[in-house]
Order: sequence, then C-alpha cells, then structure tokens
Amino acid sequence: MSKLISTNPADNYSVLGEVNISTSFEISEKVKKANKAKLLWKEIGTKKRIELLKPIRDEFEKREKEITDLIVKEIGKPVTQSKNEAKGYVEEFRWFMDNVEFAIKDEVTYQDKNSIHKIVYEPFGVAAVITPWNFPFGMAIWGIVPNLLVGNTVVFKISEECPLMGKFIEEVFLNHKLPPGVFSEVYGAGDVGKKLSKENINFIWFTGSTKTGRSLYKTAADKIIKVILEMGGSNPCVVFEDIDFKKAAESIYNRRFQNCGQVCDSTKRLIAHKSIVNNLIEELKKVLESKQIGKPGDSKTNISSLVAKRQLDLLKEQVDDALKKGAKILAQKSVPGDLKGAYFPPTILGNISKDMRVWNEEVFGPVLPVVTFKTEEEAIELANDTVYGLGSSVFSKDKNRAMRVASRIEAGNVEINGSSHWTLLNPFGGYKNSGIGREHGKTLGFRELCQVKVISASK
Ligand code: ADP
Repeated sequence: MSKLISTNPADNYSVLGEVNISTSFEISEKVKKANKAKLLWKEIGTKKRIELLKPIRDEFEKREKEITDLIVKEIGKPVTQSKNEAKGYVEEFRWFMDNVEFAIKDEVTYQDKNSIHKIVYEPFGVAAVITPWNFPFGMAIWGIVPNLLVGNTVVFKISEECPLMGKFIEEVFLNHKLPPGVFSEVYGAGDVGKKLSKENINFIWFTGSTKTGRSLYKTAADKIIKVILEMGGSNPCVVFEDIDFKKAAESIYNRRFQNCGQVCDSTKRLIAHKSIVNNLIEELKKVLESKQIGKPGDSKTNISSLVAKRQLDLLKEQVDDALKKGAKILAQKSVPGDLKGAYFPPTILGNISKDMRVWNEEVFGPVLPVVTFKTEEEAIELANDTVYGLGSSVFSKDKNRAMRVASRIEAGNVEINGSSHWTLLNPFGGYKNSGIGREHGKTLGFRELCQVKVISASK
C-alpha cells in the first residue's frame, strides 16, 4: 500500500509519520456510504445534528494541546500562532453550532388568505471537502462543520502536507456516534482529490490554489453541481501620506509575515505614497528587527520555516526572478545558521516592475514587494493590477479618501487603518480569480451550502 510521509519542515525534513494513501476503491466506497447516509442525515434535523456534533467539539477543546503540537510539527507554524489556531477554530466550531438554526430556518416569503409560500433550505447531499495546509486544523473545521450542520454528508480530504492532522481529526470524529457514512476521510495528494471530485458527489467545498480550483470548477460544470472555491490572493495594501507610521508598520508586518507569509488573505503587495515610502520602510525595518526567527516550538519565535521544500524552491525562484530583473533588497533579516529546513529570510523588495513574478503571482512566503504612487488614481490602478481579489487594505487618516478607495478596489474585503475584517459575522470570499461564493456571515455562508426549495401551499 502506498504511503504518504509527513515531515517536519522546520527540523531538516525529519520524518514524523506516515499514513496510507486511499485507493480508488476506498474513495468510491466512502462516497457510496456518504450517499447512503444522506437521507437520514437530512431528516434527522438541525437540532439533532448539533447535539451529535457537540461532543466532537468538546473533545477537540480538551485536546487543544495535541492540535497545537501537530500544527507546530507538520507545518512549522510558531507555537503562539499554532495555539491561536487550535483555540480559535474550536471556538468557531461553537459559533457554527450556535448560528446554524437561525441561518437556515424556514422563511415565509408571502401569504394571503388563500395560500402560504415559504423557502426551505435543504442540504445538497454529499459534499467533497478539500483543504490546504496553511491552517491545517482551521480549514478542516471551516469545511467540515458547517457542511455537516446544514445536513450535507462529508467526504474530507486534507492536504498531503499535513496527513497526521487528517488522522487526528478522523480519530476524533470516529470516537463519537455519528451515523455511518456521515463523515469520512480520504488521504493523498492532488490525484486523490481529483478522484474524489469525479465520484458521485453533490457539492464541492474547496480552499487552495487557483489552479486546482479551476480544475474542480470544470469537473463541477460537467456534473452541474455547485462549488464554493476560496483560492489565492495578492492583497494590495495602499498607504497614503497621512498615517501613523508606527501603527501602520506593525499592522503591515502582521498582515504580511504571520504564518511565515503563508496566508491566502494577507498583504502581498505594498503600494506606498512616494513621499513617505522611505519613512515607512524604516519603521517596517524596526518591526522586522524586533521579531525572532527561530524554531516553531519556541514561544519567542515569530517567523519560522515555510511548510515544505517545494514552497521554499518556488519562493526562491520568484525572488531570484525579481532580483535578475532589477529589484533591490530594502530590508532582510537573516536566518540563524543553526536552523535547517524550509527557512527563508524575511525580505522587503523595492524597484519592482510589473513583469516580475513577485508582482503578478501570489507570493506565499515572507517577502514583501513595494511600489510607489503619486496620485490616488495611480494607487487604485496598482491595487487592481492583479488577477486576484481576495482582500486588501488602505491606510489614510482622511476617512473620505479611504472610503473612496475602498469602493474602487476589486476585492472581497477592504481593511481600513488596520481594522481586521475577521469575525465570522462577516462573509469571506474573493473577487476575480480568488473565488466563487462566500463562507460565514450570519446567514449567507450557511445558505451557500444548501439547496433553496420553495413550497407554496393553499390554506
Ligand atoms: P497548495 O499549493 O496550497 O497546496 P493546492 O490547490 O495544490 O494548493 O492544494 C489544496 C488541496 O487541493 C490539497 O488538499 C490538494 O491535495 C488538493 N488538490 C490538488 N490538486 C487537486 C486536483 N486536481 N483535484 C482535487 N484536489 C486537488
């Protein structure tokens, strides 16, 4: 049986463990069982589904330390950030349980003395949930939990970079008495995800690269099934001349270098007014110098390794391409010599031109390209000069100007002066090549996982 090997990218790729890759037969069997379970899971109702999922959430809560350790080891995410992931997404599991009933309750659209009409939100059936590695626990929770709550059965595939997290999640689900077939997992790389998507499924929920999302969209088109795709981003951050430098620099640092720059919705291109760019870079340098690059298990570490050698190689290619075409290193913090693995020195790059890969591709690592502008119009043009449209940010004390620019940026969210959009009450998703559909929100994200049926009855 073929194995998937899990390695530690922050410890010279030492082997952590292995899992069996799912065979085509196993994938088909799991989808068949998920199909068998779907009527029961739909008819059992939302209250019962919440009741059955609650002990699973409670077990995750009890085992937050194990979740944290797995994230640290398999991904190389600093322990403080890994802890936040474990704790934060266990809380979000609760939020989904608390909000699903309101979101998908029947809605009377119209009634008179003769008739009553209502919308009923029904599950699609079998959902293929395919997730990436950058939030190995978090993305699994986002994909699996709301789908199960609205009544879809789930066949889950986690990224090949974090199979041990996949095993852990499966173990926790199997410790509880969900009806057989309601939740199952398959293991492997892209080919396993592809096989899963070709099976008899009714819905695809995906977070990952635009390349994969596009391929899944084509598969879904053949089947005429719905997709939710949350894909890459190259968020612009537009900084005008009237800002609080310290505050802006701290915020830009966090939005670019958290999780070693491997967040889809993070700042990836800095677009600064020409008159203040030098001051801003000086402040950013100070913040960068104050942060520790180290092993992910050390609580003082703020930046650690990338997830895998393939990501390190890709980042090196992108940066080499920029340097060859004339980019200049404005700031760089070196990696201590004793660290071995997928480490890359955090870098700020200037003298950027539009033909560089760091400008027109997503940069998934601790590298920030900087360009300058003179007019508001030019800033907006630069911000929108990307195939992506996930998120964005604007810094300016002039509130009218900030709102004006926000309305013209083509992206699913705009953060003004460092205000985070992250609450599950806000829908999340992208414009352009960053995605289709929305997750979260008081009602929108849940309803995206459902069929809409209208029932019109005479009184
Ligand atoms: P990343 O570069 O972030 O790993 P991918 O899109 O390659 O992004 O991977 C995200 C998830 O999609 C992973 O679980 C991966 O195994 C899966 N995947 C990759 N290629 C395909 C495909 N062709 N069909 C379905 N799933 C895929």
